[in-house]
Amino acid sequence: MAEIKCAKCGANIPEKAAFCPACGAPKVEEQPQPKASAPTPKSEPQPSKSIPELINSIFTEPNMFIMIPLGILIACIGGLIYLFSGSVTGLRAGMIVNVFGCLLIGMFLLMGGITIKNYDKFVRLGMIVGGVIMVTWTLSIPA
Ligand SMILES: [Zn+2]
Repeated sequence: MAEIKCAKCGANIPEKAAFCPACGAPKVEEQPQPKASAPTPKSEPQPSKSIPELINSIFTEPNMFIMIPLGILIACIGGLIYLFSGSVTGLRAGMIVNVFGCLLIGMFLLMGGITIKNYDKFVRLGMIVGGVIMVTWTLSIPA
């Protein structure tokens, strides 16, 4: 079988031997040196966005134009459920859906107004919607 040369003295070492018979050096098998692989760049965890950045990334102008109509739609659906339901459960469900929609509108108007600098009017609108939500909630709490 193939013999391995001793790394120290160059003598042939039988394959099964653990030490060089000539000099006693431990057998070091000649192995292709594993290429000093550059330390694999650890996939760095995404630096967690700071909250302002996160807010800025959520409440963008395109998102507002999606979420506000969506909020209006949800609010309308809730309103319809509220109007056409006969049961108390239906009324409550409609109310909750409606408020959720209003909340969505209000939140995006308000936050959009803050993040998109020249949208002050949306902030005011958001406050109005927020006020409406509060009034709705207040009125909806059964006495
Ligand atoms: Zn040797």
